[in-house]
Amino acid sequence: MGEEQLKELGKKSVDSEFFTLIPEGYKKGKVKYVIITGSVMSGIGKGTVSSSISKLLEERGLKTSPMKAEAYYNVDAGTLNPFRHGEVFVLDDGTETDLDLGSYERFIDKNLTTDNYLTTGKILSEVIEKERAGKYLGRDVQLIPHVTGETKKYFRKLAVDSKADVVLIEIGGTVGDYENMYLLEAVRQLIYEEGKENICLINLTYIFEPKTLGEQKSKAAQLGIKKMIELGLMPDIVICRSEAPVNKSIREKISVFSNVPMNRVISLHDSDEFYKIPLMLRDEELDKAIFDVLKIDEKKLGKNGSLEKWTESMSVKNPKKKITIGIAGKYTGLKDSYISIIKALEHCEAEFNVKIEIKWIEATEIETKRKKVTEVIKGIDGLIVPGGYGKRGAEGKIECIKYCREKNIPFLGICYGFQMAVIEYARNVLRKKNAHTTEIESKTDYPVVCLLPDQKKIEGLGGNNRLGGYDISVKKDTIAFRLYGKEKIRERFRHRYEFNPEYVKEFEEKDMVFSGRSPKAEIMQILELPKHKFFLGTQFHPEFTSRPLKPSPCFKGLIKSCL
Ligand code: GLN
Repeated sequence: MGEEQLKELGKKSVDSEFFTLIPEGYKKGKVKYVIITGSVMSGIGKGTVSSSISKLLEERGLKTSPMKAEAYYNVDAGTLNPFRHGEVFVLDDGTETDLDLGSYERFIDKNLTTDNYLTTGKILSEVIEKERAGKYLGRDVQLIPHVTGETKKYFRKLAVDSKADVVLIEIGGTVGDYENMYLLEAVRQLIYEEGKENICLINLTYIFEPKTLGEQKSKAAQLGIKKMIELGLMPDIVICRSEAPVNKSIREKISVFSNVPMNRVISLHDSDEFYKIPLMLRDEELDKAIFDVLKIDEKKLGKNGSLEKWTESMSVKNPKKKITIGIAGKYTGLKDSYISIIKALEHCEAEFNVKIEIKWIEATEIETKRKKVTEVIKGIDGLIVPGGYGKRGAEGKIECIKYCREKNIPFLGICYGFQMAVIEYARNVLRKKNAHTTEIESKTDYPVVCLLPDQKKIEGLGGNNRLGGYDISVKKDTIAFRLYGKEKIRERFRHRYEFNPEYVKEFEEKDMVFSGRSPKAEIMQILELPKHKFFLGTQFHPEFTSRPLKPSPCFKGLIKSCL
């Protein structure tokens, strides 16, 4: 479709069957798209593959902007239970997203925005709002063309706003789900409108190798691809995830079934070395295949070079030491609920060339007295108490913190962990045995943690924590200042409660230092105990800004003190 025709579609959007909203400043062909879909099953690393592709393209000097298009009806990830869906990742602009955005940010070392995260809830809210405002001018509002039209608008808006050369769109779920059908339909239309040479469609599939058979089987993958073709989507590249490298005859079968040439049927087997994945994909010439489809002249791009160094720097080959970090949480059954913390520890592994073993401590087991704190904490070199909400597990976390404070074991408390450290200190050092947070005990006579003033008037639970990046003033001559090396820092928040500022003086008299404060309001952001080996609490989430080769200063401080 020509540029003029595309403009025409945009103009006629309300009085014809077409509904294509072209954002201002959009120029067809200026941006290329890479769309990543999944088939067969979820959980095979679509987010990691998407992040890796972004990294491979950035390596060659192309500016990328990755988007996760999520099929859930939730407007954002804020109300999702981390136990079901994994961690809620928070962007600097305050958007609560799925954990894939964390993966993108870490791989390409860029801050993303709300435009990089799309959900069905977000699109439908807009459609309904527009319908109520009469913006569809008497039209019957339909999935096609209206919902798909709004979806394409988001894709193109990201292209304009990010000024990217390549927009990557990861479609949530797998092909065949009812929920993401409209996203795939929007992609089909986008391919027609933008032209084949501007869109590269990748399908990530899975090749099973049942133990009873001892050989690889491609049927499930074939059916998944067939489903895509039925929807009018011909993949340009197929990436086959599998336990072992995918053999030639299986790749041939996939090729025959999907009309994808052999050099674009790529094998990606399991690897223990997570940071090697982009390089593994490059070794399979995935980057070349993408340039080929998108008609990008490789000769005009920058050279490869930094990826080997990045991969090498992130690999921990002969660690000089092994340490164990305990994480006391309540979602320890699903490691994805703490994925950014795990990643921040990995960044430290590379930084210090150490092996960090994680010991998951289920805080609820301590408070229900099924296990003793000495028993669960045995053998750890340091403790992290991560963010959380609600009553379950809180007393268990407080017991763990007490133990670490008294036994001089390095401790990092994050968000709820910061608040639990405050309660522990109030109860056991200030001798206020009823001290609590009003989140759990609304009538406590010693409310050391209470609702933020802005939160008092809020109703409902969606999108209304204190969210996103805020500046923090760091006090000189403190642990925090030594870690960050500057007086003004910025970190990301997600909380409703805070340290009750009425008690600052009482705590300071008993040697607790509030080394980080909000420059605008009286909100305590960092606490520390100067006499302890390492005792730091942050009201923010340092794990969200930790990146490969640039570990979070707070995590660095913790690990360094353990060493
Ligand atoms: N529940 C606490 C609050 O709302 C802590 C939140 C968190 O850890 N993310 O303030």
